[in-house]
Amino acid sequence: MRVVVVGAGAAGLAIGWRLAQKGVRVTVIDRAQPGRGATWAAAGMIAAAAENGEAPSPETELGREARALWPAFAQEIEEISGMTLRYVQDAALLVATTQDQSAQFEQRARASNELVSLSPDEARRMEPLLGAPILAALLATKEARVDNRALGEALALCLRKAGGRIVPNEPVMHIETEGPRGLQVSTPFGLYEADAVVLAAGAWSGQIPRIPAHALPPVLPYKGEMISLLPPQGVLLPQRVVWGNDVYLVPRAGRLLIGATLTQSGFDTRTTAEALDWLSARAVALMPSLRDWRIEEHWSGLRPGSPDGLPMLGPTGVPGLYLASGQHRNGILFAPSVAEILSRSVLERSDGPKAFDPRRFGTALAPGPGRR
Ligand SMILES: Cc1cc2nc3c(=O)[nH]c(=O)nc-3n(C[C@H](O)[C@H](O)[C@H](O)COP(=O)(O)OP(=O)(O)OC[C@H]3O[C@@H](n4cnc5c(N)ncnc54)[C@H](O)[C@@H]3O)c2cc1C
Repeated sequence: MRVVVVGAGAAGLAIGWRLAQKGVRVTVIDRAQPGRGATWAAAGMIAAAAENGEAPSPETELGREARALWPAFAQEIEEISGMTLRYVQDAALLVATTQDQSAQFEQRARASNELVSLSPDEARRMEPLLGAPILAALLATKEARVDNRALGEALALCLRKAGGRIVPNEPVMHIETEGPRGLQVSTPFGLYEADAVVLAAGAWSGQIPRIPAHALPPVLPYKGEMISLLPPQGVLLPQRVVWGNDVYLVPRAGRLLIGATLTQSGFDTRTTAEALDWLSARAVALMPSLRDWRIEEHWSGLRPGSPDGLPMLGPTGVPGLYLASGQHRNGILFAPSVAEILSRSVLERSDGPKAFDPRRFGTALAPGPGRR
Protein backbone atom coordinates (compact mmCIF):
# COMPACT_ATOMS: atom_id res chain seq x y z
CA MET A 1 0.00 0.00 0.00
CA ARG A 2 1.28 3.50 -0.90
CA VAL A 3 0.22 6.42 1.26
CA VAL A 4 1.06 10.07 0.69
CA VAL A 5 0.76 12.35 3.72
CA VAL A 6 0.49 16.05 2.99
CA GLY A 7 2.10 18.06 5.79
CA ALA A 8 5.02 17.15 8.06
CA GLY A 9 3.77 18.53 11.38
CA ALA A 10 3.19 16.52 14.55
CA ALA A 11 0.08 15.01 12.95
CA GLY A 12 1.47 14.08 9.53
CA LEU A 13 4.79 12.80 10.87
CA ALA A 14 3.22 10.69 13.62
CA ILE A 15 0.62 9.22 11.26
CA GLY A 16 3.26 8.52 8.61
CA TRP A 17 5.53 6.92 11.18
CA ARG A 18 2.82 4.60 12.51
CA LEU A 19 1.88 3.59 8.95
CA ALA A 20 5.52 3.00 7.98
CA GLN A 21 5.95 0.81 11.07
CA LYS A 22 3.12 -1.35 9.69
CA GLY A 23 4.86 -1.84 6.36
CA VAL A 24 3.09 0.87 4.35
CA ARG A 25 5.13 2.76 1.73
CA VAL A 26 4.82 6.28 3.14
CA THR A 27 5.81 9.57 1.54
CA VAL A 28 5.31 12.72 3.62
CA ILE A 29 5.40 15.90 1.55
CA ASP A 30 5.86 19.34 3.08
CA ARG A 31 6.14 22.69 1.38
CA ALA A 32 8.82 23.67 3.93
CA GLN A 33 10.95 21.78 6.45
CA PRO A 34 9.37 19.11 8.70
CA GLY A 35 8.00 20.28 12.02
CA ARG A 36 8.15 23.99 11.24
CA GLY A 37 4.42 24.82 11.22
CA ALA A 38 2.22 25.10 14.32
CA THR A 39 4.13 22.17 15.75
CA TRP A 40 7.18 24.41 16.02
CA ALA A 41 5.21 27.42 17.29
CA ALA A 42 3.43 25.59 20.14
CA ALA A 43 4.12 25.68 23.87
CA GLY A 44 4.34 21.90 24.14
CA MET A 45 1.84 21.53 26.95
CA ILE A 46 0.14 18.18 27.41
CA ALA A 47 -2.65 20.06 29.13
CA ALA A 48 -5.67 17.78 29.13
CA ALA A 49 -7.16 19.34 32.27
CA ALA A 50 -5.95 22.95 32.11
CA GLU A 51 -6.88 23.41 28.45
CA ASN A 52 -10.05 21.35 28.09
CA GLY A 53 -11.76 21.55 31.47
CA GLU A 54 -13.83 18.86 33.16
CA ALA A 55 -17.17 18.83 31.33
CA PRO A 56 -17.48 15.40 29.67
CA SER A 57 -17.11 15.76 25.90
CA PRO A 58 -15.52 13.80 23.07
CA GLU A 59 -12.65 16.27 23.10
CA THR A 60 -12.00 15.93 26.83
CA GLU A 61 -12.00 12.18 26.39
CA LEU A 62 -9.61 12.36 23.44
CA GLY A 63 -7.33 14.59 25.52
CA ARG A 64 -7.29 12.12 28.41
CA GLU A 65 -6.69 9.16 26.11
CA ALA A 66 -3.88 10.96 24.34
CA ARG A 67 -2.30 12.03 27.60
CA ALA A 68 -2.30 8.41 28.73
CA LEU A 69 -0.48 7.41 25.52
CA TRP A 70 2.16 10.12 25.89
CA PRO A 71 4.66 8.44 28.27
CA ALA A 72 5.11 5.39 26.00
CA PHE A 73 4.94 7.57 22.85
CA ALA A 74 7.70 9.87 24.14
CA GLN A 75 9.84 6.95 25.28
CA GLU A 76 9.55 5.18 21.93
CA ILE A 77 10.41 8.36 20.01
CA GLU A 78 13.40 9.05 22.25
CA GLU A 79 14.70 5.51 21.93
CA ILE A 80 14.38 5.41 18.15
CA SER A 81 15.53 8.94 17.38
CA GLY A 82 18.24 9.13 20.04
CA MET A 83 16.96 12.64 20.85
CA THR A 84 15.60 13.98 24.09
CA LEU A 85 12.06 15.37 23.99
CA ARG A 86 12.26 16.90 27.48
CA TYR A 87 8.99 15.13 28.19
CA VAL A 88 8.08 15.65 31.85
CA GLN A 89 4.98 14.69 33.75
CA ASP A 90 4.50 17.54 36.14
CA ALA A 91 1.56 19.26 37.80
CA ALA A 92 0.55 22.66 36.44
CA LEU A 93 -0.47 25.53 38.69
CA LEU A 94 -3.59 27.52 37.82
CA VAL A 95 -4.09 30.81 39.66
CA ALA A 96 -7.27 32.87 39.87
CA THR A 97 -6.89 36.64 40.01
CA THR A 98 -10.60 37.56 39.82
CA GLN A 99 -13.67 36.63 41.90
CA ASP A 100 -15.27 34.95 38.87
CA GLN A 101 -12.27 32.72 38.29
CA SER A 102 -12.10 31.93 41.97
CA ALA A 103 -15.74 30.74 41.95
CA GLN A 104 -15.05 28.66 38.82
CA PHE A 105 -12.05 27.08 40.50
CA GLU A 106 -14.22 25.83 43.36
CA GLN A 107 -16.61 24.21 40.91
CA ARG A 108 -13.79 22.73 38.87
CA ALA A 109 -12.09 21.21 41.89
CA ARG A 110 -15.40 19.61 42.94
CA ALA A 111 -15.94 18.18 39.44
CA SER A 112 -12.48 16.71 38.97
CA ASN A 113 -10.37 14.14 40.71
CA GLU A 114 -7.17 15.55 39.25
CA LEU A 115 -7.53 19.18 40.32
CA VAL A 116 -6.50 20.00 43.89
CA SER A 117 -7.46 23.31 45.54
CA LEU A 118 -4.59 25.27 47.01
CA SER A 119 -4.59 28.41 49.13
CA PRO A 120 -2.93 31.53 47.68
CA ASP A 121 -0.06 31.08 50.17
CA GLU A 122 0.47 27.49 49.10
CA ALA A 123 0.57 28.63 45.47
CA ARG A 124 3.15 31.30 46.31
CA ARG A 125 5.27 28.82 48.19
CA MET A 126 5.30 26.61 45.08
CA GLU A 127 6.13 29.49 42.75
CA PRO A 128 7.75 32.33 44.70
CA LEU A 129 7.86 34.61 41.62
CA LEU A 130 4.05 34.97 41.77
CA GLY A 131 3.24 38.51 42.84
CA ALA A 132 -0.29 39.12 41.64
CA PRO A 133 -3.11 39.26 44.17
CA ILE A 134 -4.12 35.61 44.01
CA LEU A 135 -7.61 34.68 45.16
CA ALA A 136 -7.49 30.92 44.63
CA ALA A 137 -5.31 28.27 43.02
CA LEU A 138 -5.60 24.81 41.57
CA LEU A 139 -2.98 22.18 41.01
CA ALA A 140 -3.65 20.14 37.86
CA THR A 141 -1.86 17.03 39.00
CA LYS A 142 -1.70 14.94 35.83
CA GLU A 143 -0.35 17.37 33.25
CA ALA A 144 2.87 17.03 31.29
CA ARG A 145 4.94 18.95 28.79
CA VAL A 146 7.28 18.24 25.91
CA ASP A 147 9.73 20.17 23.77
CA ASN A 148 7.55 20.46 20.67
CA ARG A 149 10.40 21.71 18.46
CA ALA A 150 12.43 18.63 19.31
CA LEU A 151 9.29 16.53 18.75
CA GLY A 152 9.04 17.54 15.09
CA GLU A 153 12.70 16.75 14.46
CA ALA A 154 12.57 13.45 16.35
CA LEU A 155 9.39 12.26 14.64
CA ALA A 156 11.01 12.95 11.27
CA LEU A 157 13.93 10.72 12.30
CA CYS A 158 11.56 7.98 13.49
CA LEU A 159 9.62 8.10 10.23
CA ARG A 160 12.80 7.77 8.17
CA LYS A 161 14.10 4.93 10.35
CA ALA A 162 10.84 3.07 9.78
CA GLY A 163 11.41 3.33 6.02
CA GLY A 164 9.23 6.36 5.34
CA ARG A 165 10.32 9.14 3.02
CA ILE A 166 10.08 12.88 3.67
CA VAL A 167 9.98 15.26 0.73
CA PRO A 168 10.61 18.79 2.02
CA ASN A 169 10.22 22.10 0.17
CA GLU A 170 7.51 20.85 -2.21
CA PRO A 171 4.10 22.50 -1.91
CA VAL A 172 1.26 20.18 -2.82
CA MET A 173 -0.60 21.99 -5.58
CA HIS A 174 -3.23 19.47 -6.51
CA ILE A 175 -4.65 16.09 -5.51
CA GLU A 176 -6.22 14.23 -8.43
CA THR A 177 -8.97 12.13 -6.92
CA GLU A 178 -10.81 10.84 -9.98
CA GLY A 179 -8.15 9.48 -12.32
CA PRO A 180 -7.85 5.81 -13.37
CA ARG A 181 -4.54 5.35 -11.49
CA GLY A 182 -5.76 5.97 -7.95
CA LEU A 183 -4.94 9.22 -6.22
CA GLN A 184 -2.22 11.47 -7.58
CA VAL A 185 -0.57 14.23 -5.62
CA SER A 186 1.19 16.94 -7.62
CA THR A 187 3.86 19.37 -6.56
CA PRO A 188 5.82 21.69 -8.86
CA PHE A 189 8.55 19.03 -8.90
CA GLY A 190 6.77 15.69 -9.09
CA LEU A 191 3.72 13.51 -9.24
CA TYR A 192 3.14 11.01 -6.40
CA GLU A 193 0.72 8.12 -6.88
CA ALA A 194 -1.04 6.75 -3.85
CA ASP A 195 -3.69 4.32 -2.70
CA ALA A 196 -4.60 6.76 0.06
CA VAL A 197 -3.77 10.38 0.84
CA VAL A 198 -3.83 11.86 4.34
CA LEU A 199 -4.28 15.59 4.41
CA ALA A 200 -2.44 16.76 7.53
CA ALA A 201 -1.47 20.23 6.39
CA GLY A 202 -2.49 21.90 9.64
CA ALA A 203 -4.31 25.21 9.25
CA TRP A 204 -3.69 25.02 5.49
CA SER A 205 -5.50 21.71 5.04
CA GLY A 206 -8.42 23.46 3.32
CA GLN A 207 -6.17 25.37 0.93
CA ILE A 208 -5.17 22.64 -1.53
CA PRO A 209 -6.60 23.80 -4.85
CA ARG A 210 -9.19 21.78 -6.73
CA ILE A 211 -10.33 19.43 -3.95
CA PRO A 212 -14.12 19.76 -4.22
CA ALA A 213 -15.18 21.98 -1.30
CA HIS A 214 -18.12 19.71 -0.44
CA ALA A 215 -15.62 16.91 0.21
CA LEU A 216 -13.80 18.77 2.95
CA PRO A 217 -15.04 20.88 5.84
CA PRO A 218 -13.47 24.33 6.09
CA VAL A 219 -10.29 24.40 8.13
CA LEU A 220 -10.00 27.67 10.02
CA PRO A 221 -6.66 29.27 10.93
CA TYR A 222 -6.36 30.64 14.47
CA LYS A 223 -3.24 32.68 14.92
CA GLY A 224 -1.28 32.48 18.16
CA GLU A 225 1.72 34.56 19.17
CA MET A 226 4.20 33.73 21.91
CA ILE A 227 7.36 35.18 23.39
CA SER A 228 10.19 33.72 25.42
CA LEU A 229 12.14 35.41 28.21
CA LEU A 230 15.63 34.78 29.58
CA PRO A 231 16.17 35.25 33.32
CA PRO A 232 18.90 37.50 34.70
CA GLN A 233 21.95 35.52 35.77
CA GLY A 234 21.37 33.43 38.88
CA VAL A 235 17.57 33.78 38.81
CA LEU A 236 15.65 30.52 38.69
CA LEU A 237 12.79 29.78 36.31
CA PRO A 238 9.35 28.84 37.63
CA GLN A 239 9.43 25.10 38.25
CA ARG A 240 6.20 24.19 36.52
CA VAL A 241 3.67 25.47 34.00
CA VAL A 242 1.69 28.35 35.52
CA TRP A 243 -1.65 29.55 34.13
CA GLY A 244 -3.15 32.89 35.16
CA ASN A 245 -4.13 36.35 33.98
CA ASP A 246 -5.11 34.91 30.55
CA VAL A 247 -1.59 33.64 29.83
CA TYR A 248 0.46 30.56 30.55
CA LEU A 249 4.14 30.39 31.43
CA VAL A 250 6.13 27.32 30.42
CA PRO A 251 9.68 26.74 31.67
CA ARG A 252 11.88 25.12 29.06
CA ALA A 253 15.63 24.61 28.97
CA GLY A 254 16.69 27.87 30.61
CA ARG A 255 13.97 30.06 29.13
CA LEU A 256 10.38 30.89 29.93
CA LEU A 257 7.78 30.63 27.17
CA ILE A 258 4.76 32.90 27.47
CA GLY A 259 1.62 32.35 25.45
CA ALA A 260 -0.53 32.84 23.76
CA THR A 261 -2.73 35.22 21.81
CA LEU A 262 -5.70 33.86 19.85
CA THR A 263 -6.91 35.81 16.81
CA GLN A 264 -8.49 35.12 13.46
CA SER A 265 -6.58 37.05 10.84
CA GLY A 266 -6.50 34.65 7.91
CA PHE A 267 -3.13 33.17 7.06
CA ASP A 268 -1.12 36.20 8.14
CA THR A 269 1.66 34.97 10.43
CA ARG A 270 3.45 38.27 11.01
CA THR A 271 4.20 38.98 14.65
CA THR A 272 2.81 42.21 16.10
CA ALA A 273 3.98 44.76 18.65
CA GLU A 274 0.50 44.63 20.24
CA ALA A 275 0.80 40.93 20.95
CA LEU A 276 4.28 41.35 22.39
CA ASP A 277 3.08 44.13 24.71
CA TRP A 278 -0.01 42.17 25.73
CA LEU A 279 1.90 38.98 26.54
CA SER A 280 4.63 40.87 28.46
CA ALA A 281 2.15 42.96 30.44
CA ARG A 282 0.03 39.93 31.39
CA ALA A 283 3.06 37.92 32.47
CA VAL A 284 4.56 40.80 34.45
CA ALA A 285 1.24 41.39 36.23
CA LEU A 286 1.41 37.75 37.32
CA MET A 287 5.12 37.68 38.18
CA PRO A 288 6.40 41.27 38.56
CA SER A 289 10.11 40.42 38.49
CA LEU A 290 9.73 39.22 34.87
CA ARG A 291 9.94 42.88 33.87
CA ASP A 292 13.72 42.55 34.30
CA TRP A 293 13.98 39.48 32.09
CA ARG A 294 15.19 39.80 28.53
CA ILE A 295 12.81 39.08 25.65
CA GLU A 296 14.63 36.42 23.67
CA GLU A 297 12.22 35.45 20.90
CA HIS A 298 8.79 36.37 19.53
CA TRP A 299 6.99 34.07 17.12
CA SER A 300 3.61 33.06 15.81
CA GLY A 301 1.81 30.05 14.39
CA LEU A 302 -1.56 29.04 13.00
CA ARG A 303 -3.70 26.53 14.90
CA PRO A 304 -5.93 24.39 12.70
CA GLY A 305 -9.56 24.98 13.74
CA SER A 306 -12.87 23.50 12.63
CA PRO A 307 -16.43 24.90 12.30
CA ASP A 308 -17.55 23.24 15.57
CA GLY A 309 -14.24 23.42 17.42
CA LEU A 310 -13.69 19.64 17.36
CA PRO A 311 -10.93 17.79 15.53
CA MET A 312 -11.60 16.35 12.07
CA LEU A 313 -10.09 12.88 11.87
CA GLY A 314 -10.84 10.20 9.31
CA PRO A 315 -12.20 9.69 5.80
CA THR A 316 -13.52 12.65 3.81
CA GLY A 317 -16.19 12.72 1.12
CA VAL A 318 -13.55 11.73 -1.47
CA PRO A 319 -12.74 7.98 -1.49
CA GLY A 320 -9.15 7.42 -0.38
CA LEU A 321 -8.71 10.95 0.96
CA TYR A 322 -8.38 11.25 4.75
CA LEU A 323 -8.19 14.35 6.92
CA ALA A 324 -6.27 14.95 10.15
CA SER A 325 -6.92 18.51 11.17
CA GLY A 326 -8.91 20.76 13.52
CA GLN A 327 -6.81 19.91 16.59
CA HIS A 328 -6.79 23.64 17.35
CA ARG A 329 -5.03 24.31 20.67
CA ASN A 330 -4.32 20.65 21.39
CA GLY A 331 -2.42 19.24 18.44
CA ILE A 332 0.64 18.33 20.48
CA LEU A 333 -1.45 16.70 23.21
CA PHE A 334 -3.54 14.82 20.65
CA ALA A 335 -0.63 13.66 18.45
CA PRO A 336 -0.33 10.04 19.69
CA SER A 337 -4.09 9.50 19.41
CA VAL A 338 -4.33 11.19 16.02
CA ALA A 339 -1.61 8.82 14.79
CA GLU A 340 -3.52 5.78 16.10
CA ILE A 341 -6.89 6.90 14.74
CA LEU A 342 -5.66 7.81 11.26
CA SER A 343 -3.31 4.87 10.78
CA ARG A 344 -6.13 2.47 11.70
CA SER A 345 -8.62 4.31 9.52
CA VAL A 346 -6.32 4.21 6.48
CA LEU A 347 -5.24 0.59 6.93
CA GLU A 348 -8.72 -0.73 7.60
CA ARG A 349 -10.51 1.76 5.34
CA SER A 350 -12.72 2.44 8.34
CA ASP A 351 -14.23 5.52 9.95
CA GLY A 352 -12.62 7.27 12.90
CA PRO A 353 -14.57 8.29 16.01
CA LYS A 354 -18.01 9.58 15.03
CA ALA A 355 -17.66 12.88 16.91
CA PHE A 356 -14.58 13.71 14.84
CA ASP A 357 -15.81 12.48 11.45
CA PRO A 358 -14.84 15.13 8.86
CA ARG A 359 -18.13 14.38 7.05
CA ARG A 360 -20.27 15.34 10.06
CA PHE A 361 -21.07 18.78 8.66
CA GLY A 362 -23.15 17.04 6.00
CA THR A 363 -25.26 18.99 3.58
CA ALA A 364 -24.36 22.29 5.23
CA LEU A 365 -21.23 22.07 3.12
CA ALA A 366 -22.79 20.67 -0.03
CA PRO A 367 -21.64 22.23 -3.30
CA GLY A 368 -23.38 25.47 -4.04
CA PRO A 369 -22.79 28.70 -5.88
CA GLY A 370 -19.20 29.70 -5.51
CA ARG A 371 -18.14 26.48 -3.80
CA ARG A 372 -16.02 23.92 -5.50
C1 LIG B 1 1.09 29.68 19.74
C2 LIG B 1 0.59 28.27 19.79
C3 LIG B 1 0.71 27.54 20.97
C4 LIG B 1 0.25 26.21 21.02
N1 LIG B 1 0.45 25.49 22.16
C5 LIG B 1 0.05 24.20 22.21
C6 LIG B 1 0.29 23.42 23.36
O1 LIG B 1 0.89 23.88 24.34
N2 LIG B 1 -0.17 22.12 23.37
C7 LIG B 1 -0.82 21.58 22.31
O2 LIG B 1 -1.24 20.42 22.39
N3 LIG B 1 -1.02 22.29 21.17
C8 LIG B 1 -0.61 23.59 21.10
N4 LIG B 1 -0.81 24.32 19.97
C9 LIG B 1 -1.56 23.71 18.86
C10 LIG B 1 -0.64 22.80 18.05
O3 LIG B 1 0.56 23.47 17.78
C11 LIG B 1 -1.32 22.41 16.73
O4 LIG B 1 -2.63 21.94 16.97
C12 LIG B 1 -0.52 21.30 16.06
O5 LIG B 1 0.84 21.64 15.99
C13 LIG B 1 -1.08 21.01 14.67
O6 LIG B 1 -0.20 20.09 14.09
P1 LIG B 1 -0.32 19.74 12.55
O7 LIG B 1 0.69 18.73 12.24
O8 LIG B 1 -1.74 19.45 12.25
O9 LIG B 1 -0.03 21.14 11.83
P2 LIG B 1 1.36 21.89 11.53
O10 LIG B 1 2.35 21.64 12.60
O11 LIG B 1 1.00 23.30 11.23
O12 LIG B 1 1.89 21.16 10.24
C14 LIG B 1 1.28 21.33 8.99
C15 LIG B 1 2.35 21.21 7.93
O13 LIG B 1 1.71 21.24 6.64
C16 LIG B 1 2.57 21.90 5.76
N5 LIG B 1 1.80 22.36 4.60
C17 LIG B 1 0.83 23.30 4.55
N6 LIG B 1 0.35 23.43 3.31
C18 LIG B 1 1.02 22.54 2.54
C19 LIG B 1 0.98 22.19 1.15
N7 LIG B 1 0.15 22.78 0.30
N8 LIG B 1 1.84 21.25 0.70
C20 LIG B 1 2.70 20.63 1.56
N9 LIG B 1 2.77 20.92 2.87
C21 LIG B 1 1.95 21.85 3.36
C22 LIG B 1 3.16 23.04 6.58
O14 LIG B 1 4.37 23.49 6.03
C23 LIG B 1 3.35 22.36 7.94
O15 LIG B 1 4.65 21.83 8.10
C24 LIG B 1 -0.35 25.63 19.88
C25 LIG B 1 -0.42 26.35 18.69
C26 LIG B 1 0.05 27.65 18.64
C27 LIG B 1 -0.02 28.41 17.33
